[in-house]
Amino acid sequence: MSHFVYVNGKLHVEQVPLDRIAAEFGTPVYVYSSASLTENFLAYANACRQHGRGDQGALVCYSVKSNSNLAVLSLLGRLGSGFDIVSGGELERVIAAGGNTRKVIFSGVGKTREEMRFALSEDILCFNVESIPELHRLNEVAGSGGKRARVSLRVNPDVDPKTHPYISTGLKENKFGIAFEDALATYRVAGSLPHLDVTGIDCHIGSQLLDDAPLLEALDKVIELADQLQDAGIDLHHLDIGGGIGITYDDEKPVAVADYLSRLFARIDRWRAERHGGRPMTIMFEPGRSIVGNAGVLVTEVHYLKHGSSKNFAVVDAAMNDLMRPAMYEAWHGVLPLSEPRSPARVYDIVGPVCESGDWLARERSLAVAPGDLLAIMSAGAYGMTMASNYNTRGRAAEVLVEGDQFRLIRRREKPSDLFALENI
Ligand SMILES: *Cc1c(COP(=O)(O)O)cnc(C)c1O
Repeated sequence: MSHFVYVNGKLHVEQVPLDRIAAEFGTPVYVYSSASLTENFLAYANACRQHGRGDQGALVCYSVKSNSNLAVLSLLGRLGSGFDIVSGGELERVIAAGGNTRKVIFSGVGKTREEMRFALSEDILCFNVESIPELHRLNEVAGSGGKRARVSLRVNPDVDPKTHPYISTGLKENKFGIAFEDALATYRVAGSLPHLDVTGIDCHIGSQLLDDAPLLEALDKVIELADQLQDAGIDLHHLDIGGGIGITYDDEKPVAVADYLSRLFARIDRWRAERHGGRPMTIMFEPGRSIVGNAGVLVTEVHYLKHGSSKNFAVVDAAMNDLMRPAMYEAWHGVLPLSEPRSPARVYDIVGPVCESGDWLARERSLAVAPGDLLAIMSAGAYGMTMASNYNTRGRAAEVLVEGDQFRLIRRREKPSDLFALENI
């Protein structure tokens, strides 16, 4: 169900008209729906439960990089979510939000010693290791601290996710993961290191996948490898199939999470039944976009209209530094006026004030707008605020969380003095 709907001609988030939020906190402002976040998380958690996997059998580790606001992490943590992090900074956020560090998995190709030490001191669930040098470093850091590190190897199943090249990660030519043909040997190295406990296997093949066929193909390869490992005496506790389910930005029809998980658990159940003697295995997921993407919008005000001979521009107060996806991937975002339009429309490019021709948010949209009107850039909850920058010394936008008929500021707008507070002359 959409929590972004027009009521009496005004675009609402749950029961709150968006123009009230803009009036109170200004623009640009990111607004998130807690009902939407909750529903999207429960789509995973409930499907796991329905397939007989309660707290021990499955773990959903929300991908913190998709939206790392403390209020979002806190909400998901209270629903039972674990967290997939890619930096020590994200671990600090999880802790500040009251998340359970025993449900944290640490992904990423470039973990530093400092990050490893910190994560070990917090006793995180698992490190997703991506190379042999990383195994050696982790073993050394754990040993010098008198600790043991639980590790999973991120294998690269060489499956084409059929998504944008910048967000496909499971092909041979990508920097991520351990090549499938090197996996067994790498597990042997991991097993030989005294301060590591090999506990799992993981993969993540890409993002914004509309079809689950590539994910199920990756699962088959991971299962095949887990069997080879068991035969080699390496018994795993968990299997992590990554994130990646896409969302509807325009007219995409992504597979429903429940349908994907039904097919996935059917394969896993069949495999576990055939493979007698294998220990029960926890199944893990790392979803990001499918939980927050359509739970958030970016509200912006139209400042100027420029009508030209070949193009019309609506210059708004949000820019590429607030929402990078269009500039970076030519991503398409829906644009809705906060008040349902009455006058005839014209075709506009929606552009920001930043001094770059790449600074656009949407192109060739039919809109009836006037200066002072407010627009919602839709589907902006994931990879929106977390990719925002201060380019052009623009303070990052405020963030607001709606819950029913209530809303609250969850991050204040940055002031210019915030931006140079760390600098010296
Ligand atoms: C980014 C990322 C995810 C989340 O991907 P989505 O497409 O947002 O679901 C999961 N796992 C890893 C390792 C990632 O880097």
